[in-house]
Amino acid sequence: MTITVEQTLLARVPEALLIGGRWRPAAGGETLLVRDPATGAVLKEIASASVEDGRAALDAACDAFEDWASTPARVRSDILRRAFDLLMERKEDFALLMSLEMGKPLAEARGEVAYGGEFLRWFSEEAVRVAGRYGASPEGHGRMIVTQHPVGPCYLITPWNFPLAMATRKIAPALAAGCTVVIKPAELTPLTTLLLSRLLEDAGLPPGVLNVITTSRSGAVSEPIIRDPRLRKLSFTGSTPVGVRLLEQAAGGVLRTSMELGGNAPFVVFEDADLDKAVDGAMAAKFRNIGQACTAANRFIVHSAVVDEFTRRVTARVAELRVGRGADQGVEIGPLIDERAVDKAASLVADAVSRGASLRTGGHAIHGPGTFFEPTVVADVPPGSDILREEIFGPVLAIVPFDTEDQAVAIANDTDYGLVSYVYTESLTRGQRMIERLATGMMGLNMGVVSNAAAPFGGWKRSGLGREGGAEGIHEYLQTKYTLTPDPFV
Ligand code: NAP
Repeated sequence: MTITVEQTLLARVPEALLIGGRWRPAAGGETLLVRDPATGAVLKEIASASVEDGRAALDAACDAFEDWASTPARVRSDILRRAFDLLMERKEDFALLMSLEMGKPLAEARGEVAYGGEFLRWFSEEAVRVAGRYGASPEGHGRMIVTQHPVGPCYLITPWNFPLAMATRKIAPALAAGCTVVIKPAELTPLTTLLLSRLLEDAGLPPGVLNVITTSRSGAVSEPIIRDPRLRKLSFTGSTPVGVRLLEQAAGGVLRTSMELGGNAPFVVFEDADLDKAVDGAMAAKFRNIGQACTAANRFIVHSAVVDEFTRRVTARVAELRVGRGADQGVEIGPLIDERAVDKAASLVADAVSRGASLRTGGHAIHGPGTFFEPTVVADVPPGSDILREEIFGPVLAIVPFDTEDQAVAIANDTDYGLVSYVYTESLTRGQRMIERLATGMMGLNMGVVSNAAAPFGGWKRSGLGREGGAEGIHEYLQTKYTLTPDPFV
């Protein structure tokens, strides 16, 4: 029997929990199965943490906190930088692993390694730049000192759609700030976090600073951790309904929280847009990660003077997308994460069509094995359609026409979410107006992808609280102390 590259890689992924520097099975011996969404085949059986394991992981993070918080920032920085270097050396392993457990095309998985790795490098640089302030009080009676301190042990919960980047976007700033963490990846894609944790150990991270629990019982295991008075911070990326529930749990302990939640991004194409660029941007904003990104363009709001041409051009591009197993060469659209995601895409398309939208290409589930959905374009989507209100999270591009700028703004802002918007226009002043009028935390102005480790990622309204990345990112894991001292001359 020949052993494939995939089998060799999977054999190297730890199958245990990482608690206090020790890899160990779940206390009750429970396990969970991780499957390839392109085939349904089992990739690996790993530990499934119990409530007791969750508490043990938090114990370990608490025990390690004081030492790690007082470790010189340069040492913490060097570990993160080594982790970045190791990730670049092992990038093909991580790309393949993500493609296997999540389904994304290999080329995109490589892109995620580059993006996810940047958080390690960026926060290795930020670790040594945490500044304070010293100044005279306005009355001249004393001197004011402002210092920054790590917030304490943190609980990090990540989703399945970007298994590496969502982990490094939280782990790197937390460790840079001097916090210790317990991380819980999604049950569907835990392998990348396990391999990343092994890499962080190899980079020299001391025991207990990073603890990993994988579990099939996320709610039951997480709640006691969140309600434990020793925890000081919860950072969550996932859906808004789960985020709201976790905020309620966090309220008791008055926890610091970062919430990266759902989106419903508008993609506005004005009549003066460069249509070549708009179509390229649309393909990236919609079909990256098989449409399963919080930043995915959900509603294409296109001026009536160019809507026919835009629709014709995107439909031609979408119809040519190559669907298949992400790990196979040349595939552009992999499977959706599970059956539920396929059913949701199908029902959103069916609802829009039943209200009068016109189906231009795709629109249907692809028969298994695997959970595939045809890359789809629906045009003339009428107001009130579910697809305009809900996060599609699939390869479906929905187009709504508009006539005036005010109309475009009203449609774009007609959502509870406010993560990101995309605007295509060749007019500088119109672009400036859109920056001021669109209610989102991020905007791509003539750009279809905005994510960057050096930028503050985050949303307005029900899309979240706080920012990840940029100069802001490390402050999510720091707390401020102000000290008043006497005037040294009196
Ligand atoms: P999800 O169902 O909310 O799950 C996210 C994470 O929360 C997973 O680890 C999940 O674990 C865990 N979880 C679920 N219920 C929980 C509970 N009661 N207590 C504690 N943890 C719980 O979201 P998803 O389907 O994985 O991810 C897609 C969503 O994430 C979309 O809405 C997307 O927009 C959003 N997202 C946002 C951003 C952003 O930066 N704003 C980035 C990426 C994704 P299990 O899966 O193991 O239950």
